Amino acid sequence: MMTGAQYVESLKQRKPRVFYKGERLHDFVEHPAIAPHVRTASMTYELARDPRHAEVMTATSSLDGARISRFTHLFWSVDDLVKKIAMLRLLGQETGTCFQRCVGLDGMNAIWSVSYEIDQAKGTDYHQRFRAFVARVQREDLMCAGAMTDVKGDRSLAPWKQADPDLYVRIVARRPDGIVIRGAKAHTTGAVNSHEILVMPTLGLPPEGADYAVACAVPIDAKGLTVVFGRQTNDERKVEGGIDGGTPFGIVGGESTLLFDDVFVPNERIFMAGEGEFAGALVDRFAAWHRANYGGCKAGNADVLTGATAALCEVNGTIGNAMVKDKLVEMVHLVETNFAGAIGSSALAKRLPAGNWLVDPLLANSVKQNVTRFVYQVARLAHDLGGGILSTLPSDADFQSAEVGQLLRKYFAGKAGVDTDTKRKLVRYIEGMTSVATLVEALHGAGSPQAQRIVMLRQADLPGKAKLAKKVLNIVD
Ligand code: SF4
Repeated sequence: MMTGAQYVESLKQRKPRVFYKGERLHDFVEHPAIAPHVRTASMTYELARDPRHAEVMTATSSLDGARISRFTHLFWSVDDLVKKIAMLRLLGQETGTCFQRCVGLDGMNAIWSVSYEIDQAKGTDYHQRFRAFVARVQREDLMCAGAMTDVKGDRSLAPWKQADPDLYVRIVARRPDGIVIRGAKAHTTGAVNSHEILVMPTLGLPPEGADYAVACAVPIDAKGLTVVFGRQTNDERKVEGGIDGGTPFGIVGGESTLLFDDVFVPNERIFMAGEGEFAGALVDRFAAWHRANYGGCKAGNADVLTGATAALCEVNGTIGNAMVKDKLVEMVHLVETNFAGAIGSSALAKRLPAGNWLVDPLLANSVKQNVTRFVYQVARLAHDLGGGILSTLPSDADFQSAEVGQLLRKYFAGKAGVDTDTKRKLVRYIEGMTSVATLVEALHGAGSPQAQRIVMLRQADLPGKAKLAKKVLNIVD
């Protein structure tokens, strides 16, 4: 397993084509907009090397028996799924933000299961190829990004009916040695600082959409791949640094748009190429695993947010107030409700034909549905308790000013003996973790609220529930 420093060094060895704010970045790893996200992802490596966390952060490879990072491990049991949630909560607590590496992990498990089923049905050899890919990911401790969401153009039209057929990633050429893909994937978490991109379809596809049913692995510096790193509301702050720059880990996941401009993918890296009838299962399974995750990582983040809010109340001298305590307990209640759902969906997991285990989809989607509400409610409570200073605190530069800095420190004092810097750090963290980027990520990450409701309706068995009611009420059809 790599150390955090080795991971950062490994990124420097690669030469992806990265753009940010109109400029090509040659040293993207050190760029102030990207470096915080690199540091956060490096924590997935650092904690895996820490013997105190070995049980949660590492696992034994099913492929060669080596001790590996849990971020490269397939889910072989309920215990693996529960430990994954524990790992996400731990990392959420240690970084206070999104550490990005889980998308690739869930993508690996989705492709593992579906490639097996395609082979069983069609006599292809995708699973064998993917097994070799996973073995390399485990051996070299690689970080994979999962690229699923297409840019989608006119959403009322199927991919092959778009005015521009490239608005969903598709196969534009089939060669004896591989395929050529073209299109763009949006919102790709951690892509710029990943070693590999796992490309996956975004929806189930009928035969006429076969060219859009593509799952494959593309190295981050593949010819024809361009990474456009997204803006965030706080990106000027990251460049300014200081207290206004926030924690070393930034906020949310550092998402990118990926442009695939006729990227050649050799056969050994292709795991689905036209089998659209399996694409829906791949999407649903990936989504179930990833939606359950949010009960872990967001709980860890909220532990830090709740702690920061309580500490700010302490600085403000309001922590003894019963109403303040009650609101902090409400934050805790919302967070633990979500965590319980994530553990529950793992506990009720079922074994797939390929041998890995799938969380209970109804519970997993309920977790994510709750996140779309609870993260906003938790943020509201933090705003309520934190006060107007969350949106009006003067800049770090003013606090450093020779002319007004001293007066600002005098008038922004809280409880006697607490440094004003402490108060400002708490305020800036709460501001960042309740800002638009964080809230939108909680709403739309791993799928928008309606996407969960569609799965929940499918899983809810309403006719079965109606039968239960009729039986209890002695209603005869
Ligand atoms: Fe992992 Fe959570 Fe970030 Fe998704 S949102 S990549 S589960 S930390």
